[in-house]
Amino acid sequence: MAVGSQIKEYTIESARNAIAERRTTAAALAGEFYARIKKEDAEIGAFLTLSEDRARAQAERIDKMVAEGKPLPPLAGVPVAIKDVMVTRGVRTTAGSKILENFVPPYDCTAVARLEAAGAVVLGKLNCDEFAMGSSTENSAYRPVRNPRDKTRVPGGSSGGSAAAVAAGMAVATLGSDTGGSIRQPASFCGVVGLKPTYGRVSRYGLIAFASSLDHIGPFARTVKDAALVLRTIAGRDPMDSTSAEVPVPDYVEELEKPMQGRDDTARKKVSSERLKIGVAKEYFGSGLDAEVRAAVEAAIQKLASLGCEIVPVSLPHTAYAIPAYYIVATAEASANLARYDGVRYGFRARSTRTLAEMYRTTRDGGFGIEVKRRIMLGTYALSAGYYDAYYLKAQKVRTLLTRDFDEAFKKVDVIAAPTAPTAAFKLGEKIDDPLAMYLADIYTVTANLAGIPGISVPCGETREGLPIGLQIFGRHFDEATVLRVAHTYEQGAAGH
Ligand code: GLN
Repeated sequence: MAVGSQIKEYTIESARNAIAERRTTAAALAGEFYARIKKEDAEIGAFLTLSEDRARAQAERIDKMVAEGKPLPPLAGVPVAIKDVMVTRGVRTTAGSKILENFVPPYDCTAVARLEAAGAVVLGKLNCDEFAMGSSTENSAYRPVRNPRDKTRVPGGSSGGSAAAVAAGMAVATLGSDTGGSIRQPASFCGVVGLKPTYGRVSRYGLIAFASSLDHIGPFARTVKDAALVLRTIAGRDPMDSTSAEVPVPDYVEELEKPMQGRDDTARKKVSSERLKIGVAKEYFGSGLDAEVRAAVEAAIQKLASLGCEIVPVSLPHTAYAIPAYYIVATAEASANLARYDGVRYGFRARSTRTLAEMYRTTRDGGFGIEVKRRIMLGTYALSAGYYDAYYLKAQKVRTLLTRDFDEAFKKVDVIAAPTAPTAAFKLGEKIDDPLAMYLADIYTVTANLAGIPGISVPCGETREGLPIGLQIFGRHFDEATVLRVAHTYEQGAAGH
């Protein structure tokens, strides 16, 4: 088959098998993906930097293992790509910002290092909203990304490049980051699978910080099984990130095939024989939810019922306060995290300034885009003396209430099903001048970041115009296994397996 037709069909397993069975080589496969990128990406704009030397070296390593008949690691030769907010040694890392235009990091993000250690071939770095701030990837300082399913539309954001690369068959799997929805929402818009794990499940070492208490790294893939494989590779305690948790990592792939009953609740040391319970909260189906999205998500929930789950109504009463709380906490943390870009340490520095203060000011004014500046100002204001209690402290209290909502609900159910986003992909330019409308695209995703619980988006249909719709599934802290299992069961069931 010609390049470009079959390539879109690769999963981690089929790519690895093709190499293991010597139907291709890791080097040839990487070459095929680069050829596709060079052909397709001029129009889509998913990649900011290609790491061809690094990919070639890794592919040669894998091909040598094959030649020597050595056992191959789980991601051997699988072409992947990385959102440009994760640092890569010797490979330019911009965070989608002009201020890091020429930044070449001296070390690797742990998640990237773990993917490579498992044999993956890193093709390059993926476009995103500047410092991961946005819901459409239009805030990239370089260029917007187009949705491969409809090039007049956004791919979602901020990990738009990561979602688009998988959707367009320019990588088998990718990594993204999710601070308020930036993995799940673009996955939903581009018709791929995107998973945000539990806070602490995946090390953030080497992730360029946006809002440290909300930032997560997670996978994009074409199938739930591939997402499980990537998560299994990158998850687990890392001494370089003190917030990474010392919680054992289950074999997510093996767990996928467990039946929809017989939940094995190791935390509570009991095995229940009940049917798996899926919570549905009316707060996620209110006004503002597009009718076609609602219909598709409701049908998906019915499908899960027909596959053996029990549907249970739950209530998450503080959901309405999630967006304001998120945009206080996220901007407050961002204003502190972005203070380090002062022209002294990294990247861009304004020229011909006379004093140090002028150099700082001019560097930050020229280096940051409008949305980043807006957030630094909002965050600085929320943290300032006199407003701290009224805004920041209040938002933290709301965050606790939201977390308790989930804790209560998870006493009754195993997972919660909801839409990922209120609409399908919108048009490029449609919301760019209306930050509040843009912020509302995150209404169903920010809650999981505030509470730190895992969430996945899995494709569950299309609008009449053929735009993908995502079903979101939340789970208990560190219970990605159940989230993945429900998503996998749905995916297989919907495909008629
Ligand atoms: N769209 C949200 C924001 O702009 C979330 C971004 C993200 O998850 N990185 O903050």
